[in-house]
Amino acid sequence: MVDQRALRGIGVSPGVGLARAVIVQWELPNVPDRTVDRAEVEGEVARLQRAVVETVRALEGLRDKVHQRAGAEASGIFDAQIMLAQDTDFLGQVIHLIRTNRLSAETAYEFKALEVRNLWANSQSARLRDRIADLSAVQIRVLQVLLGKPVEVAWAGPTDAEHFVIVTRELSPGLTVQLDRDQVAGVVSEEGTRTSHAAILAHSLGIPCVMGVVGALAAIKPGSMVLLDGSTGTVLTDPTEGELADAKARLTRRRRTELELQAVVQEPAVSPEGDVFTLLGNVDLPEEIEAAVKFGAEGVGLLRTEFLITGRTHLPTEEEQYDYFRRVGSGFPYGPVIIRTFDLGGDKFPAAWQAPAEQNPFLGWRSIRVCLDEPEIFRPQLRAVLRAAADRDLRLMLPLVTGLEEVEASLALLAEESARLAAAGIRAAKTVPVGVMIETPAAVALADLLAQHVAFFSVGSNDLTQYTLVVDRGNARLASRFNSLHPAVVRQLDQVQRAAKAAGITASVCGEMASEPLSVILLTGLGYDTLSVAPPSLPLVKSVVRSVPHAVAVEAAQAALKATNAAEVERLLEAAAAPYLRHR
Ligand code: PEP
Ligand code: MG
Repeated sequence: MVDQRALRGIGVSPGVGLARAVIVQWELPNVPDRTVDRAEVEGEVARLQRAVVETVRALEGLRDKVHQRAGAEASGIFDAQIMLAQDTDFLGQVIHLIRTNRLSAETAYEFKALEVRNLWANSQSARLRDRIADLSAVQIRVLQVLLGKPVEVAWAGPTDAEHFVIVTRELSPGLTVQLDRDQVAGVVSEEGTRTSHAAILAHSLGIPCVMGVVGALAAIKPGSMVLLDGSTGTVLTDPTEGELADAKARLTRRRRTELELQAVVQEPAVSPEGDVFTLLGNVDLPEEIEAAVKFGAEGVGLLRTEFLITGRTHLPTEEEQYDYFRRVGSGFPYGPVIIRTFDLGGDKFPAAWQAPAEQNPFLGWRSIRVCLDEPEIFRPQLRAVLRAAADRDLRLMLPLVTGLEEVEASLALLAEESARLAAAGIRAAKTVPVGVMIETPAAVALADLLAQHVAFFSVGSNDLTQYTLVVDRGNARLASRFNSLHPAVVRQLDQVQRAAKAAGITASVCGEMASEPLSVILLTGLGYDTLSVAPPSLPLVKSVVRSVPHAVAVEAAQAALKATNAAEVERLLEAAAAPYLRHR
């Protein structure tokens, strides 16, 4: 018989979470249609204004709380919501409706809010879709104040508890940056996959997370006990005493494994035969700098800069970026810090940015294309990097490159900004090493050419897999088809490594596959001696590197190159790993 309590999804961030469920439902409350007498109209207008003030105050409180915990960048999301709440244009229209149609404040507010939501929802713009979550958050708060309901209705469940598991339809990057790692024991979402950006953030923050759990909202009641395993992708509600005991034993085992893995943090990343590897951290949010240092990163292989602006109302200034890059640089006085230029677009358009509506945002105006088309965004970033690189090993990395001309145009802008800084007598590095992300099949095809013009390659396996297999990286329905061990990806990884080697430049991998033990064997076996992963995965990756003889990895990788499908690649790597790996 099927156990109704057991749900399955995709494990996107390892770890076991056990706590009561809080349902985060960004669904608007039911608002009864209500008209008022003419004499009450101005009272309704005043009530609306009071509700907005109360909402703004609550949002400011949240912003300050998040600011204390995670810094200005993470709390910026609330600035965007505060701005939406205070939008005078929108409020003017609501007041007009109250006055002309004698509607109650909540009826008028809901009516106008619905209009805006529909407009944004139908625009097909990734940026506006991203903003709908903020819009809903604001609307829910205002409506709840007007209806006299506790705002926590949007967060149904024991939100005051020391720990809880968040159950939601979709975890947006915006919601993820708000999560309090000490309070959130885990996340279960109906949508999303291992490589959606919210998943990458959850992984970096070390929050156990299972995505793509069909029917989670219907099956999990607020306050019910939820047990989730972010490695296996299993979710169990209301576990029995026996299951709880079992889970606690698993948690203890996992903690022991973590402690064992912790022991390798101080050890060098060398294979049993003495081959040396470099392990770097992916840093998405300022608070991860510390984690990357703690978990033994030798530097930062991928500094994602676009999360600096998730939910923010303005683009970060040159000065803000300069401060941030210096801060990251100080965390790694001896290692490189690879700053990736803004990778806007796809699912990463910030509130601050006016993006056009597009049919296929992942094939659209994103990433390096945006930076080159909008130099007033790109130039301050380049200047901030050059200035911060005056006394640090900072490097620059261009995302989503598809042709040499993008590299040339970027290098030209960099040279121009360098000359301007010098002319103005501003302290800055003359230049910095510039590399490219290899994350499109076009870049792979041109790898030998690109290698002549850049200082390094870093393979973005998330996008490379997406664009090679034509599988949306964030679509839960296609998750089983998204496999970086597909021979079409494996062969490209080999091609890129060979091109880099021939040109005498380094090639590393910074996509999610670099944190999976089997892929680590494949990648090191193909010749990648530098990997960059989410900080919590560093100990595991290092233990794989230290446990599996390099010769075994090379042999397995060569066999994998001849495989005809992903399952065969996996079997070959499993067989190679089996004698050496316990932590899997
Ligand atoms: C990638 O595409 O693999 C990558 C590392 O970049 P992002 O996940 O930020 O797109
Ligand atoms: Mg990418």
